[in-house]
Amino acid sequence: MVTVVDINTEPESAARAVAALERGECVAMPTETVYGLAADATNGRAVARIFEMKGRPRFNPLIAHVASLDMAEAHGTFDERAMRLAAAFWPGPLTLVVAKRPDSAIHDLVTAGLDTVALRMPVGITHDIIADFGRPVAAPSANRSGRVSPTTAAHVAGEFADSDLLILDGGPCRVGIESTIVRVAPDRLTLLRPGAVTAEELAAASGARVEMAGPGAAVAAPGMLASHYAPRARLRLDVEDCPDGAALIAFGDGHGRRRNGAASVLNLSPAGDLREAAANLYAHIKALDAAGARLICVEPIPQAGIGAAINDRLRRAAAPRDCDERA
Ligand code: AMP
Ligand code: MG
Repeated sequence: MVTVVDINTEPESAARAVAALERGECVAMPTETVYGLAADATNGRAVARIFEMKGRPRFNPLIAHVASLDMAEAHGTFDERAMRLAAAFWPGPLTLVVAKRPDSAIHDLVTAGLDTVALRMPVGITHDIIADFGRPVAAPSANRSGRVSPTTAAHVAGEFADSDLLILDGGPCRVGIESTIVRVAPDRLTLLRPGAVTAEELAAASGARVEMAGPGAAVAAPGMLASHYAPRARLRLDVEDCPDGAALIAFGDGHGRRRNGAASVLNLSPAGDLREAAANLYAHIKALDAAGARLICVEPIPQAGIGAAINDRLRRAAAPRDCDERA
């Protein structure tokens, strides 16, 4: 049975979460990106429980969340560019993939046996919990493997209705899509996953050029598998004229578009604000999916800024379901 605790009315929320982490349990908690299913990153059995609950393949590495630069540096090697990026964007929606220190206590299940580690410092109660806990916390999105990431506590409760799970309710996530992931290698910066922190911002803060991960990157970063974040409904992208009877995810004021025949319409941002659209993306997909839509049409989303990340997630959600390596 899930226990949902409102962090704004329950002063003991963080302490309860820390106690559960100490016992090697998973706890669902809000971050600025999406809700995470958190466990002690140094405890192999606790991390195994994350994979078990999500039904996620073991070889998919997880992000280790930290509460300070000191904690990050105890587990990963930070060169000058990594330092600049951490200084510019932490705490915040940026994950840095750096060389793992040989003496790091982060379990191999978290890094999938790689010699690199993905580190991020989140904002809010999850940050405070990790600081109290004193160790990094692995926290992939709190959904069953292959499904849309949760941006509210109710989404998480829906995913794990049959599990014993403490869920901290901090309201809807501010950003709404997963963190930007950048690999900091000695000779280059590679964008592995687009997010709220854009490639242009990374280049400006680091002083280095940022390469886009090529098609082969799916091997280095399994989270990039084509089919990911999948709803039950079929998704059709870049739709200008919604066919009659389809569900529609709109963007903007609808000028020059046909929406009248849509069976239901949810607008990511009537004002055309991409940040608002990112925050609403998963909740809108989930709502139309839950209402039984067979076909969800999505209006064109500009590629600018966080729009690149929105389009990345939409493409994965629309990809054929020919593999089950999704998380
Ligand atoms: P999440 O599901 O948000 O925890 O994101 C996990 C994703 O982070 C993985 O699927 C990878 O894409 C990426 N990742 C984590 N660790 C590494 C790593 N050591 N090297 C490359 N990518 C990583
Ligand atoms: Mg996920």
